Amino acid sequence: MLRTHTCGELRESNCNEQVTLCGWVQRSRDKGGLMWTDLRDRYGITQLSFEEGSTPAEVLETARKLGREFVVKATGTVVERYSKNDNIPTGSIEIKVESLEILNGSKVPPFIIEDDTDGGEELRMKYRYLDLRRNEVRSKLQLRSKLAMAVRNYLAEQDFIEVETPVLIKSTPEGARDFVVPSRMNQGEFYALPQSPQTFKQLLMVSGFDRYFQIVKCFRDEDLRADRQPEFTQIDCEMSFVNQEDILNTFEGMTRHMFSAVRGVELGDFPHMTYADAMRKYGNDKPDIRFGMEFVELNELAQNKGFSIFDQAELVVGICAEGCAEYTRKQLDALTDFVKRPQIGAKGLVYVKCNADGTFKSSVDKFYSEEDLKAWADKAGAKAGDLILVLSGTANETRKQMSELRLHMGKELGLRDKNTFQPLWVIDFPLLEWDEETERFHAMHHPFTSPKAEDMALLDTDPGKVRANAYDLVINGVEIGGGSIRIHDRATQQLMFKHLGFTEEEAKAQFGFLMDAFEYGAPPHGGIAFGFDRLCAMFGGSDSIRDYIAFPKNTSGRDVMIDSPSTIDEAQLKELGINLR
Ligand code: ASP
Repeated sequence: MLRTHTCGELRESNCNEQVTLCGWVQRSRDKGGLMWTDLRDRYGITQLSFEEGSTPAEVLETARKLGREFVVKATGTVVERYSKNDNIPTGSIEIKVESLEILNGSKVPPFIIEDDTDGGEELRMKYRYLDLRRNEVRSKLQLRSKLAMAVRNYLAEQDFIEVETPVLIKSTPEGARDFVVPSRMNQGEFYALPQSPQTFKQLLMVSGFDRYFQIVKCFRDEDLRADRQPEFTQIDCEMSFVNQEDILNTFEGMTRHMFSAVRGVELGDFPHMTYADAMRKYGNDKPDIRFGMEFVELNELAQNKGFSIFDQAELVVGICAEGCAEYTRKQLDALTDFVKRPQIGAKGLVYVKCNADGTFKSSVDKFYSEEDLKAWADKAGAKAGDLILVLSGTANETRKQMSELRLHMGKELGLRDKNTFQPLWVIDFPLLEWDEETERFHAMHHPFTSPKAEDMALLDTDPGKVRANAYDLVINGVEIGGGSIRIHDRATQQLMFKHLGFTEEEAKAQFGFLMDAFEYGAPPHGGIAFGFDRLCAMFGGSDSIRDYIAFPKNTSGRDVMIDSPSTIDEAQLKELGINLR
């Protein structure tokens, strides 16, 4: 080793020891006769000191040449510091340097590599390898590593086998576009990068692996948001001879283990909620249940009183914001503006103030008596001092809008504390989802998900009503994982493809291998996959998954550091048999 210690290690108890440190120069202060240099590595910062008279002249000369981010090796004696720095663990000592070697120089870095940096996002992405030297950025990846270890430990303990599945495959439909890779050896043909290892993990169950997992890259060509990247990581799992309860229990265990091993948090209950209830009570299939504010349907009370907007609505729905009766005109206008934003799209917002003196004041006083409003308040469980907010319109849209308003109010009222973690299993998802654009049913989860046996008959009569053995793990309103019990026989799988609008030939061409496998003793099986990047972000208290990825892409899907994607040269295109014109 070139060093005896790291830059985060030495304390007063090491005084008088002769040590050698290696690291990067964070900054130097030259006070004429005295000079100090902060030496940094991933473990911390140690101060080097040089003094005219006592430090050898050639060492002092080298020290004066040091610039930011030079890589150096310094040997010297640990001494107690004259003025101590309580902010860093090594703050009570410094190294009186006796020999100094520059291992490598550095250009002046494009931004300051300290906790407080002057570098903008774009610049830091371009020089991501420098940004990764900063504590804040590196520590996020350390958290990621810890989390991955916790997962592996837990699953290995439970007899899961980690198996790698191929990256050059053929489309696995998870509802996104595929990234494709041209084949040189099979010109005109393409591989698809896996949107998930779904079919392979099912095949491993047919092979008898029984319990599989993989921390694996998946690729989906979708429009990007803060919590999406074109390549992302899943904790992908599959089990045989299990029912839904077994899967939920196993992965509740894994989730508990992660939280206690990495965050020291003991999670409470993992309640179960059906998709139908989640939509009815929260207008959202991933409700944040850190707070209540459940929807109250007001159709019966609010309709047929002469207010035509409510009369024409399919749904009139309210929430009760506790203690908000005193909201000012300005605050109420801001809420109205919030719901009228194009992303939310409500036409207006009705409010009812439940005044402290027991009276009511609403924006629809013209149409409703005090008694009417009292009935609303009773139904909403609103007390004196509370505020009821009401939206109306078509059911699905209004629920979505109200869900946004509820989350907004939850945030305003400080009910969404980042350090409180509330898990929830959402179960009984619909099997199929109607797509307006293509005018077809799509698999809501994926086509390998099994319908509930008791709903099978509905497949022909009312396909939209069929429920699936599918579940999501939601924490604090974020979908952390999702999975299903699978179809494991050819006939049902074929039926499913038929309902999804595949011809028999198409189904065979794309998924014949899976259906064939089902004819050789496929065990009942099911599984789940967790969004690993999202989990990391949640553990780190951040909304952006990008921070938790060593080399992420920007919102246009570009890696600005390596400048990718990029064009390829003519010769390479020719070799691949691709003609761009
Ligand atoms: N392959 C699924 C997904 O990526 C997860 C699963 O069903 O296990 O969402």
